[in-house]
Amino acid sequence: MIDFQPHLDAAAEQLADYTARELRVFATSSFQPGSVVLLDLLGRYAPRVPVYFLDTGYHFPETLRWRDTVAAALGLRVVSLRSPVGRMQQRDRRGNLLFVSDPDHCCHLNKVLPLEAIIHSSDVWVSGVRGGQTAARGRMGWEGRGRHGVLRFHPLIDWDARMVHHYAQGLDLPPHPLADAGYVSIGCQPCTRSWADSLDDRGGRWFGMKKQECGLHLDVETETP
Ligand code: SF4
Repeated sequence: MIDFQPHLDAAAEQLADYTARELRVFATSSFQPGSVVLLDLLGRYAPRVPVYFLDTGYHFPETLRWRDTVAAALGLRVVSLRSPVGRMQQRDRRGNLLFVSDPDHCCHLNKVLPLEAIIHSSDVWVSGVRGGQTAARGRMGWEGRGRHGVLRFHPLIDWDARMVHHYAQGLDLPPHPLADAGYVSIGCQPCTRSWADSLDDRGGRWFGMKKQECGLHLDVETETP
């Protein structure tokens, strides 16, 4: 039996501290199965914090429906962001959409770019990254300093996949519709495949490509107290 309360208390205390300091806080979520932990945490302790969803236009329709269901159930303020660069401009010289030939650039246009203005006008960015997910995330801490000086808060940095699974099971929320179809980590449809290993929860993302991150969670420096 995992005692989640100390983890929740620590996150709640940190969020309350930001509020007391009148910092401008926002969160991001990709609304995939494991996102429920951060979303539940925000619903409990910071329901007024806007939760930005990077709507690339390539998401599974199941994700979009589930996003709306979960947002309503938890009382979250979810805001979708779209790229300022239209789909017709997102093609390579052969006419292929960029996720085929240059996924890093595709991610930059659809995930990184739309959030820039939000980062510039905010003080704290809350996200659900976990240290065990990728090498880059393994170097992150509870807090960090991100692009344009924004303070990054990672309340789940010490959680592992087993904890996420158990916590999600204890919530009174419907599971992501694709979870039962073998999808563990779910991003854009062209870059996600089903994946059997629930403990390697990023394995189905950008399968066969030398890519682990969309770019949102790179260049984070750990804060030293
Ligand atoms: Fe494009 Fe794939 Fe990145 Fe989505 S995950 S923005 S489709 S490269």
